[in-house]
Amino acid sequence: MSVRLPVKIDYDNCMGCRKCYTLCPMDVYTWDEEKNVPKVTNYMECWFCGACMMDCPQRAIDVQYPLASW
Ligand code: SF4
Ligand code: SF4
Repeated sequence: MSVRLPVKIDYDNCMGCRKCYTLCPMDVYTWDEEKNVPKVTNYMECWFCGACMMDCPQRAIDVQYPLASW
């Protein structure tokens, strides 16, 4: 079964600033120390506030709102 994550990260553009990881109020992200990038871990907690997407300086985050898939 494949899981459709609400948050997609474009790792080619991520510069590892940690903003998304720091600001997400729901702790959706954990941090991959080895690769120095965020990981979408607690995706069930995302409530689509869009804060991470809006604050990412690289525009590397795409939040897929549930209604967009209808
Ligand atoms: S805010 Fe953007 S650039 Fe910064 S760590 Fe998150 S995805 Fe990467
Ligand atoms: S949309 Fe909001 S709740 Fe979801 S990962 Fe981004 S900051 Fe966290």
